[in-house]
Amino acid sequence: MERRDLTAMYPMLSVEEAREHVLAGLVPLEAESVPILSALGRVLARDVIAGYDIPPHANTAMDGYALRSVDTAGASEESPVRLRVIAELPAGYVAEKPVVPGTTIRIMTGAAIPPGADAVARFESVRLDGDYIEIAGPVPIGKEVRCAGEDVKQGALVLKQGRRLRPQDIGMLASIGESEVEVTRRPRVGVLATGDELVSIDAPLAPGKIRNTNGYSNAAQVLKYGGEPVPLGIASDSDEEITKRIRSGIEQGVDLLVVSGGVSVGDFDMVKKVLAREGEIDFWRVRMKPGKPLAFGHITIEGRKLPVLGMPGNPVSAMVSFEMFARPMILALLGASDVEHRTVSAVLADTISSKDDRRHFVRVLLEEDERGYVAYLTGDQGSGILTSMVEADGLAIIPEEWRNAEPGVHVQVILLGDTL
Ligand code: AMP
Ligand code: MG
Repeated sequence: MERRDLTAMYPMLSVEEAREHVLAGLVPLEAESVPILSALGRVLARDVIAGYDIPPHANTAMDGYALRSVDTAGASEESPVRLRVIAELPAGYVAEKPVVPGTTIRIMTGAAIPPGADAVARFESVRLDGDYIEIAGPVPIGKEVRCAGEDVKQGALVLKQGRRLRPQDIGMLASIGESEVEVTRRPRVGVLATGDELVSIDAPLAPGKIRNTNGYSNAAQVLKYGGEPVPLGIASDSDEEITKRIRSGIEQGVDLLVVSGGVSVGDFDMVKKVLAREGEIDFWRVRMKPGKPLAFGHITIEGRKLPVLGMPGNPVSAMVSFEMFARPMILALLGASDVEHRTVSAVLADTISSKDDRRHFVRVLLEEDERGYVAYLTGDQGSGILTSMVEADGLAIIPEEWRNAEPGVHVQVILLGDTL
């Protein structure tokens, strides 16, 4: 098909329009129950409600003496109050006798407050005298006492459906006695690289050939965002080969297919053609740089629509396209409540020239000075320069309407860190 025909058929979409298209109709995958430690990084499929209070009983925040506040009401330097120590209570046990007027129980951090007591005087605030302690000032009710339920109340919503679980969430699940938790199944994402020039990582590098970078960087992105990569290898630029590998992905039950290369306008850009024949193309081309020739469509299998994302092949374009489109799709399949990247505002340190009305995603390194975050270009911004991606902390967003962003302007930077 002529380039003119294609460009007329598929108007270039804005990033937002394209995102709407790729996310439309995606629903969370089914839930599965897993041991909590295996749930790290997974997305909660249900709300988690606390079955009881945490802490379950009032306990002391300090090593000290459990006492009745009222007994210390008149205490002062001149006339300290004397209390008899009647027992010692380590954490993990309960007092055998109550604290009655004029007495105290020596108590260790975490031990349950004995009946009768309503406050704790720290070790260092009392003077020890045989079986007695002397207190030189009033100890108010509740001093050093951690109340039952002060962290979590029974019946409280502790973790919300759609949350991606972090180590502290795993700790919370443990403290409320949940050994297993329901999370959404990991989306299976087929990762296919296309191009006659590609050879696999361990094959000899014959003249004219390059290694398959995207098969790995895209699969690593799948892992990072909570999916399960299904490697579909390398397809040469042939209709049959691409079709065969896509079908292999379908047979392996993928939930999403990401393909790199072959979506531009060259003679050998077969992916669009295969997608149009095997399914349908939803859109082609997005007003962004890198990543313009993105193609998106569906292949319908047994009444189910398998989304297919055809990304440009340059290693940075493939990664940035993945960040902007495959990532939110994976998160939507996971039922994550937030599919947006975290961004920070930063002062741009360098000049960025933008010649057209595409949104530019520029690889930057972030440093902090008195102005807050400062974004420095990581070097050559060519779509094939992976080094500047390796160096980058994030992608600075240069809006469509800007021309030549100057040093000193504020930009939003998408963070590409360890977290979502
Ligand atoms: P394409 O989008 O197929 O026109 O490819 C654009 C550029 O990216 C070409 O220089 C390709 O050689 C390169 N490229 C395509 N796929 C890969 C890949 N999987 N790994 C590394 N480079 C690639
Ligand atoms: Mg190609």
